[in-house]
Amino acid sequence: MLYHYPSYCDSFRCIAGKCTDNCCIGWEIDIDSDTLAYYQSITGDLGQRLRQNISEGCFVLTENERCPFLNSHNLCDIYTELGEEHLCQICTDHPRYYEWFGAVKEGGIGLCCEEAARIILSEDMVLTEKEIPDEESGGCDPELYGVLLAARDCMIEHLQNSSFPASVCAMLDFAEELQSRIDNDDFTLPAFERVSQAENADLRGMLNIFQTLEPIDERWQPYIRHCAELAEVIPPMPPEHVPYLRRIAVYFLFRYFMKGVFDGEILSRVKLAAVSTYMIGFLWRCGLYENASYSFADMVQTAKNYSKEVEYSAENLDTLADAFYDVPCFRTPQICGAFEC
Ligand code: SF4
Repeated sequence: MLYHYPSYCDSFRCIAGKCTDNCCIGWEIDIDSDTLAYYQSITGDLGQRLRQNISEGCFVLTENERCPFLNSHNLCDIYTELGEEHLCQICTDHPRYYEWFGAVKEGGIGLCCEEAARIILSEDMVLTEKEIPDEESGGCDPELYGVLLAARDCMIEHLQNSSFPASVCAMLDFAEELQSRIDNDDFTLPAFERVSQAENADLRGMLNIFQTLEPIDERWQPYIRHCAELAEVIPPMPPEHVPYLRRIAVYFLFRYFMKGVFDGEILSRVKLAAVSTYMIGFLWRCGLYENASYSFADMVQTAKNYSKEVEYSAENLDTLADAFYDVPCFRTPQICGAFEC
């Protein structure tokens, strides 16, 4: 089987105790059935701790929302005492994500982890592939898979090499036309070109939708409300943000677009890439406006927080996918208007 992944994944290493936002804090972690059975077989003090701190297949978080096995040095006691091979599947994989398309597996590292976010923002994504042992995989329509793969390659190529944000607007037009063709069983690729005219953006409308999302961290919604108040006064996108915004757009496109092979839905996934790029850039501009020095590390934190709140909640992703079709501020001409104002 072939495995496709961004080559920067090879340089990812969890920074563990140095992480300022440990992924073992604030998340409910489901334990897979094989690992759960193994934990139930452990004897001694650790076995007792495991049985006391697991309920309904999840670790029972402490009052501070910490995993009960995360010690005061922010290191994992299960990892230390049983070894990495006995972490549950989620802890083993995180922040890596995977998707299977017949004989092809794809994977990457998620923006919700601060070290992954640092890497994603630091390097242009270069796709690489290698042979791996076969894994169980559901099938997918090979014709649609081929078209979407070619479409994604085309969009990533333009996002990385054409002028920005014009490439984002052309990508949205391309996706609108491709969606319409797929809906009519026409699996040919449209031209990658700008056809729509930008219209006045409704940033308040966009922010209103983001304020309806289910918060993961209680500080997120007040932060978004505060940034919404700055919408009229913040400066336009500075040129030095452009390389980072291109990488954000490519990240979202790589991660989500090919899922369209399972349901034929591609436009909302392209809009997720465009709107997320815009929103993260907007939050960076707010940070820049309010702080004399707004560093690369601050940009990494903001992108990571956005990802946690938006990407790592299936409910929030569904809400946005619906809004991309139903709410006027997310029409392609208005998203382009937001980028171009
Ligand atoms: S968020 Fe990333 S760097 Fe931090 S503890 Fe988790 S995997 Fe490690």
